Amino acid sequence: MNGDNGVQLYSAHARELRHTQQHKVMKFVEYGCVEYDRENRVFLCKPIEGYNSTTYEIRNSKEFEWECNCQGFQSAKRRYEKDPNAGLPSCSHVGAVWEWVKQHNLIKVRQSVRDGLQLTLMEESA
Ligand SMILES: [Zn+2]
Repeated sequence: MNGDNGVQLYSAHARELRHTQQHKVMKFVEYGCVEYDRENRVFLCKPIEGYNSTTYEIRNSKEFEWECNCQGFQSAKRRYEKDPNAGLPSCSHVGAVWEWVKQHNLIKVRQSVRDGLQLTLMEESA
């Protein structure tokens, strides 16, 4: 999917991201907010000073590929669990992690029959 700012994001998550979120995604990446905590196997999306103040945790998830602990993701997840037609839960933090792992070549992207593109974290073989 191509945003008009040229951003490409993989996965069904990307399709759920609204344009306003795309903007946030790029801000997080630009400001270096995304980090990988290898010990705890969790991605962190740190706050942008003067913009927000919470660090969110984004974990690899079998069901959603990524799962974020922010309110937006969690309420979208509850909606999805009640009604799968509501669309996969996502948020700007998940988008930022996607963008970050792509930039760091941390993922292999492969085609999956059911969901289109899927990822494998390169960490497994590192
Ligand atoms: Zn989030």
